This record gives sequence, structure tokens and C-alpha cells, in this order.
Amino acid sequence: MGTYDHLIVGAGLYGAVTARRLKEAGKKVLVIDRRSAVGGNVYTENIEGINVHKYGAHIFHTNDKEVWEYVNRFSVFNRFTNSPVANYKGELYSLPFNMYTFNRMWGVATPEEAKAKIEEQRREIDHEPRNLEEQAISLVGRDIYEKLIKGYTEKQWGRDCKELPSFIIRRLPVRFTYDNNYFNALYQGIPIGGYTKMVENMLEGIDVELGVDYLEHRSEYEAKADKVIYTGAIDAYFEYSLGNLEYRSVRFENELLDIPNYQGNAAVNYTDRETPWTRIIEHKWFEFGKDENGNDIPKTVISKEYSSEWHIGDEPYYPVNDDKNAELYKKYRALAENEKNVMFGGRLGEYKYYDMDQVIASALRSHI
Ligand code: UDP
Repeated sequence: MGTYDHLIVGAGLYGAVTARRLKEAGKKVLVIDRRSAVGGNVYTENIEGINVHKYGAHIFHTNDKEVWEYVNRFSVFNRFTNSPVANYKGELYSLPFNMYTFNRMWGVATPEEAKAKIEEQRREIDHEPRNLEEQAISLVGRDIYEKLIKGYTEKQWGRDCKELPSFIIRRLPVRFTYDNNYFNALYQGIPIGGYTKMVENMLEGIDVELGVDYLEHRSEYEAKADKVIYTGAIDAYFEYSLGNLEYRSVRFENELLDIPNYQGNAAVNYTDRETPWTRIIEHKWFEFGKDENGNDIPKTVISKEYSSEWHIGDEPYYPVNDDKNAELYKKYRALAENEKNVMFGGRLGEYKYYDMDQVIASALRSHI
């Protein structure tokens, strides 16, 4: 028997919430992570007063009251509302698809005119959409598909829209109102002081060891606890014995600029195929351009986001939830069932395109 009841591998949201839950249930918990900081991919680092989202933009949003109340125990949230702008070859469009977008695209001003335009264009799909392209055209028509969806999606996923599952595009709302709020969520915001601070608060009073690669020191760490909660990639856990699952990885080019305002918005998506990055994030706008004392920040940090295919050794970000990978995941799942004292959780452990709130909900409600 080890010193701990539970060993948690991974100090991201799933690991931190599970650790907190177990601690509050009176268990002894050790959390380890191979990175040198906690937070997983929600990790933020303060640069010149700006909380930089080092592993990509994270905007917390949820309809789940319990999850919202839970995260608010560990941080106060600001009133940030995500309203990205799409840049298609210099033409700027509002996202998600709403009356501002339709007005810019077709010059229409009323919901009735916009609906008529979409109705006319979606007729080309006369059956149940079978892939992302058909789903997109049937939701918003070909013009929007060509200018705002096709290039962005193919860059992000490195696959043709005809080869991608339609659920990915159903994440985006389509609205016939003048409303640029990207998410249909009751609660939304960014933790004041950064996500890292929020995760540190979740882990308060819990033993954490950083810079430890579990898979390289498995027997040593297994011996420390009765049960393991593993939040890394499930195929890596099994040493890719059935072949690797596919992931998309992301690379960021960060720049600190000596100007106060680069693009006037937190997120600008480049939806053409030719621009090599998918989006540019200007981090200060997640907190309205102010530092923690409420002063205007004179500089700015931007991140260009490049999407790439994942290879062993890269950081996995997005699971590629197509049929082929779903099949392979099922086989890994079967192996996981045989690991009696190990539980798999989170975006990588469950190979699922989870949003932050879904990760937290799953960690709060899992049977541990
Ligand atoms: N999407 C798009 N154009 C955009 C933004 C999003 O076509 O300007 C589609 C695209 O298929 C993408 C999906 O919506 O894969 C989800 O995008 P989002 O940026 O919300 O995903 P995230 O990377 O934030 O999880």
C-alpha cells in the first residue's frame, strides 16, 4: 500500500478538480505533471501585466450552474464575452454567424431577407448532411461556407471538409439577431488573475510534483498510491500498442509589441486558405486591456496560431473524432477496462473534444 490513496497524473482541469474532490472527501492525493507548471492547457503566464494564454485562447462558458458555482469558488470571473472577428482576405465579418455577418455578406438587413438568402443556397443539399461541408452549407449556405468556414476548418483540421464529422460545425451558433456573442451560454467569463491562479487555488493543500513524466517512472509512482487517475493521452499510456490515435497539434508564435493595440479584439480568425495561421489572439483584450490594478497596459502580446498534424513527441491538443479514430479509441477503451486500479479522464484520457466546462462536469460527476 502506498502513502497516498490516489495518484493523479496531470495537473490540468480534470486532474485539479478530481484532486480537490478527493481531498474534500478526506483522501490523500498526489498530483504529478510532466510540465513545470500546473494548469495543463489552460495555463496562463503573466507577461508585462498581461495574462497570456500559453496553450491557446480559453474562454470559460457554460450552461451548467453547478460547474459555474464550482469554478467561482476558486476565482472571480470577469464579464468577457467572446465575439471573434473573421478576416477573409481583408473583408471583416462578425462571428458567430448572425445578422451582422449576413448584412456584410449579402447586404440584407432583416432576418426575413437573411433567411430567404440562406434558404436559396441550402437547397443544394437535399438529404441529411453526411459531413461537415454538407452540414455547413445546409446551415448557412455556400457563400458563408466558402468564405468563413472552408479555409479555416481545413487549416485547423488538416483535412478536407468532406472528410470531417458534421458535429464540429454544430458547435457554432447561427442566429437571426444582431448578437455577436460566440457562445450560447448562460455563464461566461475569464478568471481574474489568470487560469493558473485558479488551478493553484484548486490544488491548495494538495501535494504536487512537477517535471515528472509518469510514463517514464511508472512503477515508482504506481507504488505510491492505491489508485491512479490518468489524464494523459490514452494511447500513450498503452505505449501506442494498437497504433496511435490522431490528434491535431498547435504551434504559437508569440510577439510582445511596443504598441497598445494591435487588432482591437481578442480573437481574429483568418478564414482564407492562404494565410498560414488560423487565428491571432491579442491576450490583453480578455481583460479589457487593463492590468491587475486597473491601469491601461502600454504594450501588447499577440499569438499567431498554426495548426499541425500531431506526431509522437508533440503536444496533443485536439482529438480527431472521425470514424477511424473512434474505432481505435474503442479498442484502447477495452484495454483501459482491464486496468483495475486506473481511471482515465479528461480530453486526452477520454479522447473527446471537451470544452472546459464539460471537463469539469465530468471530473465532478465521475465515479471515483
Ligand atoms: N469555424 C469556422 N470558422 C471560424 C471559426 C470556427 O469554420 O471562423 C468552425 C471550424 O470548423 C472549427 C469549429 O468551427 O473547427 C470550431 O471552432 P472553434 O474556434 O470554436 O474551436 P476551438 O478551437 O476554439 O475549440
